[in-house]
Amino acid sequence: MIPYGKQTITEDDIEAVVSVLRSDWLTQGPAIPRFEQSVADRMGVHYAVAVNSATSALHIACLALGLRSGERLWTVPNTFVASANCALYCGAMIDFVDIDPVTWNMSIQKLADKLVQAKRENKLPKVIVPVHFAGQPVEQEAIWELAKEYGFHVLEDASHAVGACRHGEPVGSCRWSDITVFSFHPVKIITTGEGGMALTNDADLAWRMEMLRSHGITRDPGRMIRKSDGPWYYEQQMLGFNYRMTDLQAALGLSQIMRLNQFVNRRNELAARYSALLNGLPLQLPVVSPGNQSAFHLYVVLLANDHVHHHRHVFDYLRAQAINVNLHYMPVHLQPYYRERGFGEGLFPVAEAHGKASITLPLFPRMTECEQDHVVKTLMTFFKEIIS
Ligand SMILES: *Cc1c(COP(=O)(O)O)cnc(C)c1O
Repeated sequence: MIPYGKQTITEDDIEAVVSVLRSDWLTQGPAIPRFEQSVADRMGVHYAVAVNSATSALHIACLALGLRSGERLWTVPNTFVASANCALYCGAMIDFVDIDPVTWNMSIQKLADKLVQAKRENKLPKVIVPVHFAGQPVEQEAIWELAKEYGFHVLEDASHAVGACRHGEPVGSCRWSDITVFSFHPVKIITTGEGGMALTNDADLAWRMEMLRSHGITRDPGRMIRKSDGPWYYEQQMLGFNYRMTDLQAALGLSQIMRLNQFVNRRNELAARYSALLNGLPLQLPVVSPGNQSAFHLYVVLLANDHVHHHRHVFDYLRAQAINVNLHYMPVHLQPYYRERGFGEGLFPVAEAHGKASITLPLFPRMTECEQDHVVKTLMTFFKEIIS
């Protein structure tokens, strides 16, 4: 079976993890600040907070931004459920903004229109979570301008976009956002097994996220609210969690990030090759907008309108040929949990159409051209022989 995504693990990665196993620290220890510093340096951002998943990073980012019950968070429907769930963890209300039919990222026009209406109804969001779908950066500077105008915070879900750039600016630099979140799940660009990170240029947000990842506890003498009564003294100052990353994971991350450029280049090479080979089939291919370099976490194609009714058939056919195609995404607002909360069909038509036509083809750095040719040929056979 050719998987849709897969990690790349080398002997150096294995050695890095084993050396932590032989050391004194297994949980959050000296490898964490080293990993955080290397990501911060690579992205050109001041602060990085490593945690055990992107989901945890989204949660503590929302808390650090002060998102509370009665307030609102908006994201897109074509994302993983975690981008929306973080609002509900904080007791806040969730809503969605439809996507652009070409970039498949949050539509700036729809966002602007929705903000005008929300302002009129006194229902403006506190936080907006744009998602860099498949690794292509969103129009961050446009969202940031709206953020200044309407007074909301921007929390980038860059789970797909580690290593991507917009106008030469790495995603994660937080040039146009308050906080950026990365995922290091094995299918993503670099991995720590499970893991995530929150990046920011704001010292206070960074401090709050560091506190929240470990029970809201500090041991910093300069931060104490009460007087220390001994060397054992520490203080819990807020309600935090155990969202710590282990040193085993950070060591793997440190080893992986050294190959980030290599991974992103190879993904772009394979994506360009897909686009050249699939040209002419009844498919809408991914478009990288001017000024963007995509990390190509996913290579997603859409069936042309007159072929959408074959969606299920393509999946069955490709999977029967040992090609594990996937769907990104079933729209979040159509999940049973969200339907129970008042969402349903017809609210976000572009994202819904996307979910009915999209196919994620296999793409990972070690994919061979031979495997890719097999995927392309199988798709050609499907269109030219199976359904004609
Ligand atoms: C993978 C992913 C997440 C969650 O990442 P975890 O590290 O598994 O918690 C969140 N948002 C998006 C868009 C993702 O793709």
